[in-house]
Amino acid sequence: MAAAQFDAIVIGAGSVGNPTAYFLEKEGLRTLVLDELSASGQGQNKAAIGGVRATHSDPAKITLCRQSIEVFSQWKDETGTDIGWKKGGYCFPAFTEKVESTVKGLLPVQKKYRLNIDWLEADELRKVVPGINENGLRGGTFSPDDGQVSPLQAAESFTNEAVRLGAQYRYREPVTSLVMHGNSVVGVRTPVGEYRATTVVNTSGVRASEICKMAGLNVPILPDSHEGGISAPVEQFLGPLIVDLRPGPEGKTINFYFGQDANGQIIFCYTPIAPISGTNRNSTYEFMPIVAARLVEVIPRLKNLMIRRVWRGLYPMTPDGSPILGKHPNVEGFVLGVGMCGQGFMLGPGVGKNLASLVAHGTTAIDRDVFDLLSPARDLYQGKKEALK
Ligand SMILES: Cc1cc2nc3c(=O)[nH]c(=O)nc-3n(C[C@H](O)[C@H](O)[C@H](O)COP(=O)(O)OP(=O)(O)OC[C@H]3O[C@@H](n4cnc5c(N)ncnc54)[C@H](O)[C@@H]3O)c2cc1C
Repeated sequence: MAAAQFDAIVIGAGSVGNPTAYFLEKEGLRTLVLDELSASGQGQNKAAIGGVRATHSDPAKITLCRQSIEVFSQWKDETGTDIGWKKGGYCFPAFTEKVESTVKGLLPVQKKYRLNIDWLEADELRKVVPGINENGLRGGTFSPDDGQVSPLQAAESFTNEAVRLGAQYRYREPVTSLVMHGNSVVGVRTPVGEYRATTVVNTSGVRASEICKMAGLNVPILPDSHEGGISAPVEQFLGPLIVDLRPGPEGKTINFYFGQDANGQIIFCYTPIAPISGTNRNSTYEFMPIVAARLVEVIPRLKNLMIRRVWRGLYPMTPDGSPILGKHPNVEGFVLGVGMCGQGFMLGPGVGKNLASLVAHGTTAIDRDVFDLLSPARDLYQGKKEALK
């Protein structure tokens, strides 16, 4: 029997794959999405705490996340489905001179890209973050247009909308090899069969290197584990997602971030000082005591929170801390949306929109020079950047 033919095949129904499929269908391309798991968004997508900000220091991430925010914030009006969008902003409070100078140092580039972000003095910041610890508080930056979304609700809704437009989703079907014609990818194989397409889009998250290897490419994506957790709901009091850039007094954390989601639950995670490479997803005994101390240090009234659940997920890391996006220069018909590091959920819709435009028209939705900063052709080992999250 001849293999089924599609315009595009997306490998991975995750933070990036689902919006990519949705935008490919919007471009009128017949799309197949394959995932090895039994439902959409069950990879690292569901590990994300749902923070969505355009306030980065990298022009490509700023521009892509700005597009993501447009999509997330208009989703309910466009589709009628609530994905937990909460426009509470992001706040980076400064309790030390070093943090003050770091966040103020980012403002010129952020303003150059017309981001709505400013430094607030301590008095004003207290109004934005009620109950913040005033001890040593110097002020902080606040970007009111950023926000939060539920990763599980978003995955489900992007999938439903993509399917409504015509996309086919097949679960429990791992891609085991690529069908190659010389230097071109022309399809994929799974244990169930073979599927052909003009373009294959690799959005397989932490497994992306394996898929690239099937096309003879060495694209370094390494898993790095991070823990998160969520409380029982409490009355809404906290608008922004807070990023505390101070290293933790326990000597184990670089920074710590948390917010209150649309259901009132406090959701949180931190960045460990020493990256924890590998795929171990067992929760550690030290996570909760460290988080509890850090939460109460920033907002003392959180001392009575009831914690509901913790988990450990994986960041798909690249050597320079930035995603790898676009057509691969050495292989035809193969598009990458990989290496999202700790920002794949917020980048997802912006990346999906641009990849779909690239596949459909050969052009990107954002300025091509900016998009190409994340090209697979760049030197991934140059200018190693420190990702904020
Ligand atoms: C604790 C924690 C908190 C985080 N918080 C945030 C946050 O606030 N904001 C944010 O933007 N990001 C956050 N992240 C990061 C975010 O979760 C990831 O960057 C993002 O989910 C990666 O998206 P992805 O689409 O690349 O991968 P995934 O969402 O994992 O999707 C990849 C999919 O590919 C499938 N797959 C893999 N191999 C194959 C194969 N061979 N065949 C078929 N299918 C395959 C997988 O099953 C998976 O469903 C957080 C991560 C963690 C761990």
